Amino acid sequence: MTLDLFGPPPAPQTTPVIWTPTRAAALQRMAEFLPSAGRAYASTRNQDRGPDDRSNVSALSPWIKRRLLTEPEIIAAVLKMHSAAASEKFVQEVFWRSYWKGWLEHRPGLLTAFNARRLELKSLIDHDRNLRDRFTRAINGKTGIACFDAWVRELRDTGWLHNHARMWFASIWCFTLKLPWVLGADFFYKHLLDADAASNTLSWRWVAGLHTPGKHYLARADNIRLNTSGRFDPAGQLNETALPLADDLLSTSLAMTAWQTPVFSASGGRTALLLHDDDLGIDGSWPLDDVKAICVLQLPHVGDPAGPAAKFRDGCADASAHRASVALNVPAEVVTPGGVATWAKSHRVERIVSPYAPAGLTAWALADLRTALADDGVALQALVRPWDRVVWPHATRGFFQLKAKIPTFLNHPELFA
Ligand SMILES: Cc1cc2nc3c(=O)[nH]c(=O)nc-3n(C[C@H](O)[C@H](O)[C@H](O)COP(=O)(O)OP(=O)(O)OC[C@H]3O[C@@H](n4cnc5c(N)ncnc54)[C@H](O)[C@@H]3O)c2cc1C
Repeated sequence: MTLDLFGPPPAPQTTPVIWTPTRAAALQRMAEFLPSAGRAYASTRNQDRGPDDRSNVSALSPWIKRRLLTEPEIIAAVLKMHSAAASEKFVQEVFWRSYWKGWLEHRPGLLTAFNARRLELKSLIDHDRNLRDRFTRAINGKTGIACFDAWVRELRDTGWLHNHARMWFASIWCFTLKLPWVLGADFFYKHLLDADAASNTLSWRWVAGLHTPGKHYLARADNIRLNTSGRFDPAGQLNETALPLADDLLSTSLAMTAWQTPVFSASGGRTALLLHDDDLGIDGSWPLDDVKAICVLQLPHVGDPAGPAAKFRDGCADASAHRASVALNVPAEVVTPGGVATWAKSHRVERIVSPYAPAGLTAWALADLRTALADDGVALQALVRPWDRVVWPHATRGFFQLKAKIPTFLNHPELFA
């Protein structure tokens, strides 16, 4: 049975989304949104109706990023309510997320090069007054381009922007304001509740014309006016004829990374579980029977420690420690990287298992931790989710290569058991 057979879904609420940092809140938002995930989503998803009305998109990304909701879980729920044809667009969007992650997994060197460039540009800003002034005006929403300045305020105040606003924002940043794309991606990463190294860095590159060389995304005033229902109309203010950018990062070739050869042994002594900001899930994917203790890794904040993104992240860590402790009936706590060895010792742990962290800050922190823990005789082993293991190998080239495989993924017995 599909809802689409019985006419339009009930009109969803149009109040602002409240991003409460719990899985329960994610499930509630998903339940509210599900009736709209079919044809209504396909025809209206490009509209940015403003922060008071997010009824045409799911706004689930801050929870999905942390796997407080998983990709197969959302897709299964959507397919229960809508036909495959009606929900095709929504399902494809969820796969965009897996695509970006898989693509970066094959080229982790790109993120290292991005970070090096980011640091170079930060020091350039200290010396180049013109760049500093233009950058400061942009990140404080003082460019005089009303839509851009409003999105800066919305991002700072709520930690979230509609996908179309992110595309317009990045395009205006690169082509009208002519600021380095790396600084724009860094600004987003520091403020987004759903900040994700792969989706963010690679979407900025896609807009700039670096992901598909020669193909860039140009924000147009009439498109903004149409898709914001006239709330904004930057006619005459945008550069609508700019050419794609030239790549300023080292080119990186395909690499084999740890997810293809995970180190995990069925038995490894007294075991603890380490969760982290890229995967706080404790669903059926993990062998959790023998876990004696749980910690949630908390890295230093990259942005404002009192801002919405930091509060949401910390809230998710606390709530997930509590939830995991209750579910597995073992002690759980939030620890910093420097505290993991002491925590492991206090629980007499010989092995820590952890969900695999894709390319990004958590992965870098875990690599350091693995070395430090080995000195204490504690092994840190990664568990790769079936979803990632099955989908990522198809993310080596363009999205269309992966998209062609979606019907196969949807019938994969291991992914939708
Ligand atoms: C410049 C730029 C930066 C971005 N940075 C991030 C980021 O840091 N973190 C992040 O999660 N997404 C990022 N995105 C992708 C996208 O904007 C968000 O995932 C989406 O807006 C989240 O809103 P939603 O949950 O309502 O999505 P919906 O439209 O309801 O889609 C459902 C889910 O599918 C996934 N999804 C949808 N569109 C995309 C997309 N284009 N790319 C990847 N996944 C997608 C998300 O997990 C999303 O929650 C970025 C896009 C751009 C253009």
